[in-house]
Amino acid sequence: RIVYVNGEFLPEEDAKISIFDRGFLMADGVYEVTSVLNGKLVDYDGHLTRLERSLTALDMPEPEGMDALLEIHRELVKRNNLKEGGVYLQITRGAADRDFLYPEHPKPSLVMFTLAMTLKKSPKAEKGLKIISIEDQRWGRRDIKTVQLLYPSMGKMMAKDAGADDAWMVEDGFVTEGTSNNAYIVTRAGTIVTRQLSNDILHGITRAAVLRFAREAQMQVEERPFTMDEAKDAAEAFITSATTFVTGVVEIDGVTLGDGAPGPVSRRLREIYIEEAEKMAV
Ligand code: PMP
Repeated sequence: RIVYVNGEFLPEEDAKISIFDRGFLMADGVYEVTSVLNGKLVDYDGHLTRLERSLTALDMPEPEGMDALLEIHRELVKRNNLKEGGVYLQITRGAADRDFLYPEHPKPSLVMFTLAMTLKKSPKAEKGLKIISIEDQRWGRRDIKTVQLLYPSMGKMMAKDAGADDAWMVEDGFVTEGTSNNAYIVTRAGTIVTRQLSNDILHGITRAAVLRFAREAQMQVEERPFTMDEAKDAAEAFITSATTFVTGVVEIDGVTLGDGAPGPVSRRLREIYIEEAEKMAV
């Protein structure tokens, strides 16, 4: 693989970052994953806007290369001949003597690489996901997309150990989101319910697009918290993220939803999303 590190395209084995990088020492960094379909970037502007918001929220300066970010994305896709998958981007505050205080003259670093993945024809999406619930033990600024992913990582391990695919996190009795995706239920009356935007969840780029498409298709949408009991009693459930698009959930804490296959609303939204994503890709 050819990767990008601070101005250079290099074979991955030649790419280097300092051991004093604050991303490594303090998780002082932010990231984005933009999906690639047919060699094109899906919702690039959405990801760039969120990236800028994350940087501002952490008072992190823009690294060199920010003005050429779209070109770097495209160049990586081209050099790796990527047709389907994603581009991972990470910005950290860079290397400095280890100190909790931010360095006075930070030199942020920018690292990017491609991820080859089968997104459209996903066996997991065909079958639907099994989800468990876990307590949400993350920090309070989940709207900032930081590389601080240890708890979500633990959550995925807990799901795996329980024989499930993923975990939804619960705080004060209500579902916040999935370990790496936004969480939705479809009530028996057909209303799509997902938690409203706040600092409690990541503002998913896929979430914004899917809610827009759902409303355009005259589906009922409610942005409000929901409980695990409501989820277990729902007609359907699904998740969204850049790399899973819309993926049905078929089991929640051991309770099967509907007939145990991804429901009609989830399947329809997945179809609409993929069609629109291919259209809007640049
Ligand atoms: N929530 C969390 C916690 C995530 O990590 C992600 C994916 N990075 C999402 C939601 C989905 O966001 P997006 O649709 O922008 O990929």
